[in-house]
Amino acid sequence: MEPYRIKVVEPIPITTRDYRERRYAEAGYNQFNLTADDVTIDLLSDSGTGALSAEQQAAGMRGDETYAGARSFFRFREVAEELTGFPHIFPVHQGRAAERILFSALLKPGQLSVGNTHFDTTRANVELVGAVVRDLPCPEAADLDSDAPFKGDIDLVALEAVLAGPEDVGLVLMTITNNGGGGQPVSMANLEAVSALCRRFGVPFFLDAARFAENAWLVTQREERYRDHSPRDVAKLAFRLADGCVVSLKKDGIVHIGGMLALADTELAKQCELLLIATEGFRTYGGLSGRDLDMCAQGLMEVTHPAYLKERADATAYLAQCAREAGVDSVTPTGVHAVYLNAGRLLPHIPSHQFTGHALASELYLAGGVRCAELGSLYLGEINESGELLTPAPFELVRLAIPRRVYTRSHLEYVAETLASIAKHPERVPGYRLTEAPAVLRPFRARLDQVR
Ligand SMILES: *Cc1c(COP(=O)(O)O)cnc(C)c1O
Repeated sequence: MEPYRIKVVEPIPITTRDYRERRYAEAGYNQFNLTADDVTIDLLSDSGTGALSAEQQAAGMRGDETYAGARSFFRFREVAEELTGFPHIFPVHQGRAAERILFSALLKPGQLSVGNTHFDTTRANVELVGAVVRDLPCPEAADLDSDAPFKGDIDLVALEAVLAGPEDVGLVLMTITNNGGGGQPVSMANLEAVSALCRRFGVPFFLDAARFAENAWLVTQREERYRDHSPRDVAKLAFRLADGCVVSLKKDGIVHIGGMLALADTELAKQCELLLIATEGFRTYGGLSGRDLDMCAQGLMEVTHPAYLKERADATAYLAQCAREAGVDSVTPTGVHAVYLNAGRLLPHIPSHQFTGHALASELYLAGGVRCAELGSLYLGEINESGELLTPAPFELVRLAIPRRVYTRSHLEYVAETLASIAKHPERVPGYRLTEAPAVLRPFRARLDQVR
């Protein structure tokens, strides 16, 4: 059960299918064009969508809005330093700001950023400074159905080959958990090996630690050596293997806005501080209010509570199990922040060029007002300006991201029932074609139509 009770509520919109069909057509069949009033259960993102605790609200009231040297900063820094062990802690307004600052200071044009799987903003920020992304997911990641416990790992053999080869590697970045790779965890053994390789080759090693607590939880559940560790101790050990981290606190900070850049190296910290002041704000607030900083500090304490993590992992696994019983498979083993549905398997009659993942995501909205994100050919495929799919994505997935402390089990059961109603007659689900296919940031700006 949820290890909390509810003392503030927000009504959710209950709509009809007619209403949703009209609104979705007006939205160009793109869920990013829907508004909050159109959506009953919003599983588009777990980022900044969590519920604050009473203690976080109270911490927010203690927020100190002094321009430089606010007490809130020192409270935030104390928690962040204790957690990560890094002496240089910079608040930023969200994760991508930390990425931009770090890569601007560290990466030179043409250099490689090597990782398990770069998140999309991370990739964009690497490319914006003229560097190049190289994703080396482990071979197990390619099998959606196996129960390999750590499909978020990097391929160590491939990593060593790149580090030993002629290419200039600027940094190695491990994303925990691996959001782009099915929300799968990275083992401590893998992080230790990456750390050792980076030391050997003199390459800086960073964590993209948006879901550091969820990764730590899965390590305590799946990695024998860490069974008796607390999730917080695992998280601390993971940070101590790296030279720094970029963190979106909108995930495991359980706040609505916030991020952090933490560094071991003093010279690099000096460069980053310049960029921080020029583009985010002074080093003691970095684009956040004192209120935000205090709520982040409290969130970073709460997020590693075993009862919280266990219930969150159980609830996600429960949704995946209900979906599977209804005939809808998802990437296994289930992670914590999301269920990744295998739309390609459910809707074999819809070819990739009619965007199978988008078709399932669309039907979830039309049938039940459930909003989610496509992770298939619309997002990851290669598409020309007339909207034709040139290269499909490897899989047609749909991500149901679970906001933290927001929905109860009965909400998740409603989502599973909606999926079950679709799975009864999958052949009725139509495909889609692009009517507007912008070259840049396509998923957010595209318009589509149904193929009937
Ligand atoms: C959300 C996220 C980011 C970007 O953080 P924002 O706070 O959205 O800017 C980077 N990496 C990962 C893995 C994320 O999930």
